[in-house]
Amino acid sequence: MSTHFDCIAIGGGSGGLAAARRAASHGASAAVVEKSLLGGTCVNVGCVPKKVMWNAAHTLEAVHRAQDFGLDVAYRGLDWGALVGRRAAYIERLNGIYARNLDKDGVTHIQGHARFLDANTIEVDGERYTADHFIIATGGQPVVPDVPGAELGIDSDGFFALREQPRRAAVVGAGYIAVELAGVLAGLGTETSLLVRRHGPLRDFDQLIQEGLQEALPQHGVDLMTHCTPSRVERAPDGTLTLTAEDGRTIEGLETVIWAVGRRANIDGLGLDAAGVATDQAGQVPVNEWQETNVPGIYSLGDVTGRIPLTPVAIATGRRLGDRLFGGQKDRRMDFENVPTVVFSHPPIGTVGLTEAEAREQYGDAVTCFSTTFVAMDYALSDHKPRTRMKLVTVGEKQRVVGCHILGTGADEMLQGFAVAVKMGAAKRDFDETVAIHPTSAEEMVTMT
Ligand SMILES: Cc1cc2nc3c(=O)[nH]c(=O)nc-3n(C[C@H](O)[C@H](O)[C@H](O)COP(=O)(O)OP(=O)(O)OC[C@H]3O[C@@H](n4cnc5c(N)ncnc54)[C@H](O)[C@@H]3O)c2cc1C
Repeated sequence: MSTHFDCIAIGGGSGGLAAARRAASHGASAAVVEKSLLGGTCVNVGCVPKKVMWNAAHTLEAVHRAQDFGLDVAYRGLDWGALVGRRAAYIERLNGIYARNLDKDGVTHIQGHARFLDANTIEVDGERYTADHFIIATGGQPVVPDVPGAELGIDSDGFFALREQPRRAAVVGAGYIAVELAGVLAGLGTETSLLVRRHGPLRDFDQLIQEGLQEALPQHGVDLMTHCTPSRVERAPDGTLTLTAEDGRTIEGLETVIWAVGRRANIDGLGLDAAGVATDQAGQVPVNEWQETNVPGIYSLGDVTGRIPLTPVAIATGRRLGDRLFGGQKDRRMDFENVPTVVFSHPPIGTVGLTEAEAREQYGDAVTCFSTTFVAMDYALSDHKPRTRMKLVTVGEKQRVVGCHILGTGADEMLQGFAVAVKMGAAKRDFDETVAIHPTSAEEMVTMT
């Protein structure tokens, strides 16, 4: 095997695979080094297994609501082992597809942990490789807080390794991963508490979404504990865990505590010092708009840079870098504006662009917002009436839509099209001029006044 390449991506996750494959498509000799499973976080311990679990919880919700439609459906319980087993088989198939895709595209797959020896050389399992361009795409890993007994809990990776369904769980964190894991567990029947340090989860999201989520979490069976910072975790004589908060509140009888308090860049043992690559205070690898680190020929992208840590962002950035370096597209680079995102809560959240608060800070009085709250028709025959919420944030006389926020059934599938409109610079009038699709929740997006 050749040991010199035009381009070596370190990390076989979303970003590294995308960058190497795109480089190869332009005729470059490319390699990917992966120390674990191909596909990285997203495929193995992120988006994919998470969405499978969300789909399971979502389906169970439908089973519980079946009687609203006169359907005589009996629910006899969840076989957690079967669910996790089928999920693992699906992921294994994906790992295989990723390996075959590399093969098909002529990208060399090097298995092992990469470490820089200098700015032009890495070592993997004792073998040295050189490249004209290195792309650091090593992703991130969960952070566990420094409190006594923290090791008795698990992180999101541990959640996906659970072989049995916990009867009672506490999820600690206020970000989307905490919200999603708490929602999945509660949806599948685990008695679940979500502990957040301040007034609520998803504090960077629009106010309308935060309020909607605070209403929806308890309706979905999640016990939301606000202003609650864990101070210790202990094992009780019966084997269960007791979590104590700084203010003295305790939760007993827990079968698992899940830390979802943040993630940090994966740079351990990478030898960045040897290559002279700088990191920032958070331990991330900072880059300029062209994904260049401080060392010529060494680039970085995806979660390890700390910039919008989402799979499609890592993929798009990797492809653009490949196009620029090897496809002759010298101006091609990632545009981090208006990146849409979905939180797979129950109900899901979809959001793109500025929140109302961000828009007001940027544009002051030029901001006009339109919002609506309603019960989706899915629940017309139910006693349970969860509310869908939507908001459009517009700017200027032409009312250009700079933000779009949805919480409600279908938000996950609704948002992508509206994100195109926002990216194209659509104005509220364009939304108004678009004929509604009836009867849907999405039609409210074009009928707001
Ligand atoms: C629970 C969870 C749910 C998520 N859900 C979503 C979602 O719904 N939608 C979404 O868009 N994003 C989601 N994400 C985020 C998404 O997974 C990441 O943004 C994405 O995987 C980042 O891709 P990446 O290429 O930067 O890094 P990764 O996918 O993390 O890949 C990095 C790879 O580098 C390897 N590596 C690290 N160091 C070395 C080394 N020295 N040598 C060799 N290999 C190395 C690692 O083993 C890993 O495979 C989720 C994340 C988590 C944790």
